Amino acid sequence: MRNSVNIREFEDGSEKVFVVRDFVEVRIPLEKYRQMIKRRDKEYIISFGEPRRVLSHITKRELVFVTKESGIPLMGSSAFGVIDRGTNLLQIRPVSGCNLRCIFCSVDEGKNSKTRVTDYIVDPDYLYEWVKKVSEFKGDGIEGHIDGQGEPLLYPYMTELLEQLNRIKEISTISMQTNGILLSERKFEAIEPFITRINLSISSLREEKSSMLAGIRYPVERVKRVAEMIANSRVDLLIAPVWVPGINDEDIEEIIRFALDVGAGRKYPPLGIQKYIPYRFGRRLKNVISFTEFYRKLEDWEKEYGVKLILKPEDFGMHRRKRFPHPFRKNDRVDGVVIARGRMRGEMLVESSNRVITVKGEYKTGRHIRMKIVRSKDGIFMGEVID
Ligand code: SF4
Repeated sequence: MRNSVNIREFEDGSEKVFVVRDFVEVRIPLEKYRQMIKRRDKEYIISFGEPRRVLSHITKRELVFVTKESGIPLMGSSAFGVIDRGTNLLQIRPVSGCNLRCIFCSVDEGKNSKTRVTDYIVDPDYLYEWVKKVSEFKGDGIEGHIDGQGEPLLYPYMTELLEQLNRIKEISTISMQTNGILLSERKFEAIEPFITRINLSISSLREEKSSMLAGIRYPVERVKRVAEMIANSRVDLLIAPVWVPGINDEDIEEIIRFALDVGAGRKYPPLGIQKYIPYRFGRRLKNVISFTEFYRKLEDWEKEYGVKLILKPEDFGMHRRKRFPHPFRKNDRVDGVVIARGRMRGEMLVESSNRVITVKGEYKTGRHIRMKIVRSKDGIFMGEVID
């Protein structure tokens, strides 16, 4: 990983703490640190000093560095890397973890998550290599969509990554999902030249409601200014609220009016209203409606506000495209090596034929295991240990 330019340091109880680029938290026992600093400089200690704990500064979970040298492939997990769902859009996931804790979060993100125990950060050069390889296979007109299980702008190397993605000739569009909180003017200036569209998630324009939905005190005025800043730039703005019926019905109408006032959606639709869907490992609310009811309401709002709200993949230039091939399928039996902790409690990541497979159980890294592939969807694999 590259050397950082922004390092903070402090002592916390019996640990020396370094926070690199506001994201990577390195913790070293104070006593050991005092011995090390007599012989080594700080840069060395931050990079290699042992014993240490490396955490996400935001979520306080263990942070795994996914580099070429780590031997962790960038396809096979939904938490990081590249996901190809058989269209011309590639999901690019450089980091996991979120600065919010939305009550409707489908991936139970943020601090104090009940299910997520590990975060990942991918080296930008390594991510570029994989995206390039997959894009070359799929052909021209690819949309590189930066998203993730969390907030992509936590990634400390976003500008470097975007610069690299911009050089891949098959990629014609780069878009990004964000909650916008970290998008300062300076950060936006750095990424603006590379981005075609930003999908900004904001589910209420009212202070109290938006904080209730986000699970933390939410800076609604700041995010509104971020929306204006994007709308006034060359980057297309799509506002993407999650509608939780019975909680933010009126807020959604306010957001529709705001999106139209601010000038969202020049090339693409201005709004992408998302239905709240309870997921097995996400946060579950009772406020669920059917898709029929959802689309009926969108139709009403379309008529009332004269704006397209029922969206199709074609509205974003998406179409089916050959899938990048994978070496195994469901029910195959394969051998692999345990390479890191899994995203959820009681899971490990295993490498096999240059793909990641998630298995349940506690195994030492480096251990060889035999698995049956029990789930294989869109190149995301789950295995069951059989030996
Ligand atoms: S911003 Fe997205 S990832 Fe983060 S907690 Fe909210 S819904 Fe989850």
